[in-house]
Amino acid sequence: MPSSLQRLIACGLAGLAGIAVTLLVAEQTQADAFDRLTEERLGRVHEAVTTLRTRRTSQQRIGPYREYRVNLHVHSAFSHDSRGELPAIVAAAKRAGTDVLMFTEHPADHYDFVTDGHSGLHDGVLCIPGAETNGLLTFPKASMAGQGTLEPADYARRVRQQGGLSFLSHLEERLDWNLPGLTGCEIYNTHADAKEEERLFASLQNPLWLLRIASLIKAYPQEAFSALQDDPRLYLDRWDELCQIAPHTGVSANDAHENVGVVIKLAADGKVAITDPLDDPLLTLDLALVKPLLPAVDQAAEGTASEGAELFRMQLDPYEYSLRHVGTHVLAREQTRPGIEEALLAGRAFVAFDWIADSRGFNCWVRGSTQRHELGSVVPWTEAQRLQATAPLPGHWRVIGDGRCVHETDGATLDFPVPAPGTYRVELSLDVAGEPHLWVLTNPFYLRDR
Ligand SMILES: [Zn+2]
Repeated sequence: MPSSLQRLIACGLAGLAGIAVTLLVAEQTQADAFDRLTEERLGRVHEAVTTLRTRRTSQQRIGPYREYRVNLHVHSAFSHDSRGELPAIVAAAKRAGTDVLMFTEHPADHYDFVTDGHSGLHDGVLCIPGAETNGLLTFPKASMAGQGTLEPADYARRVRQQGGLSFLSHLEERLDWNLPGLTGCEIYNTHADAKEEERLFASLQNPLWLLRIASLIKAYPQEAFSALQDDPRLYLDRWDELCQIAPHTGVSANDAHENVGVVIKLAADGKVAITDPLDDPLLTLDLALVKPLLPAVDQAAEGTASEGAELFRMQLDPYEYSLRHVGTHVLAREQTRPGIEEALLAGRAFVAFDWIADSRGFNCWVRGSTQRHELGSVVPWTEAQRLQATAPLPGHWRVIGDGRCVHETDGATLDFPVPAPGTYRVELSLDVAGEPHLWVLTNPFYLRDR
């Protein structure tokens, strides 16, 4: 298949965030999505996550808050690069175990993302309207119409003055990442992770490979989507630096669009039309050329399908799988916009790759001699303080203090005497078919020198 297909698929992905694709050429030191997209590998990953599910123990949450799973950075049909309608997105969110959708549309003249955006409870899922604009994921309280040309720092400040939230987006593209007025930043971005999959995109040029992964995606949709998960070290390093300057709530960004894939339809004069899922044409080929590759084309050739009939569809990023891949678990008093906002402002949240295993019930706190502090707390350090956590599954724990790993242990619990003031956060990894994967990333505790 011509290179235009690869280019156009790459452009489709780039369109997700309105930026140019930069395929980062990195030394292949560990497995990437290309290595993981084999039948043998996906089968083993499927087995591993199925086993983890059976071993998971449910955890009783300690403390006054309830846990809500939030997906930030979600696009719908308001955005030029998505066709997603609200009922379908809400249904996908429910299947993925999501309680709150924080939409981040691309602003345009035909609507106001604040006043027209999806809001309120829909079938039990709370929707909060927002936008991906000015380098931010932003959730203002009042219309920002006419303010799109503001610098990111001014935009964030104005949103904060209204009581809204802003998170820095796409840290990998930015040099100006320390801005006043931010609530926090993305600490993982699915699209940024996908962009690094150089070999995957190169392989999409090969129609045989395309068809082979189409059957794999059908057999293992979640494992195939989540094959793109790599360690977001650049994001985490920058986040650690920001948190040492001031508290920054870390959130995960799904960048969900449901717009990456290939559709083949029967066209006139013995041709087939290949488009992306948004119906943008990619190329036209002779039916005879693709016939050996597609069983459905046989029917078409025999005249049982009419012009426009869909012969083949490969969707790489259905909402359900992109929403389940990663989520931000927020500890809030209630499933309302003020409740969720208050928790995000306080940093009372952890990020989890729930495709591996449901992280609900994970808990992490700092206990002093008399008080217990929740995630995100800014409190004086005392010698008695211990950083403690429990998880629904045993894994490998790392405590990060001021950006450096200061403690490692294995098991289902963590108990670390905090030796000195500093900014402390926790990473928990699980082994998935022989490969370590980050599972949970907590927000920091800011333990200050008196
Ligand atoms: Zn986006």
